[in-house]
Amino acid sequence: MHEAIVAQNIVDTAVAQAPKKGGKVTRVVISCGQINALNDEAIKFGFEMASAGTICQGAKLKIKHIPLKAVCKNCHKKFDFDLYNPKCSKCGKSDFSLGDDAPLLLEEIEFEEQQ
Ligand SMILES: [Zn+2]
Repeated sequence: MHEAIVAQNIVDTAVAQAPKKGGKVTRVVISCGQINALNDEAIKFGFEMASAGTICQGAKLKIKHIPLKAVCKNCHKKFDFDLYNPKCSKCGKSDFSLGDDAPLLLEEIEFEEQQ
């Protein structure tokens, strides 16, 4: 399961980056593209499992889905590619070229403020 590995990597990274031993993680933000998209439910479940007993336990996990850009070959409009409706948003043709899919990124780890 792809998501379980990703979740484990997030927890490992957070633990390695913790400014202080025992400092809690409050929030983690990740982003992914459309083709290698993460399943929200699976990643949240995986994160819960992987974070149990670590400084990440109870942290909020936010997943940003970055749209894939496409350019229509007919009318040259740029639009966000929708896997469920792969058509130009202006002229409705399916003849377009796709941009690069966004990579899977760990964008932000928020640690609890320490006194
Ligand atoms: Zn078009």
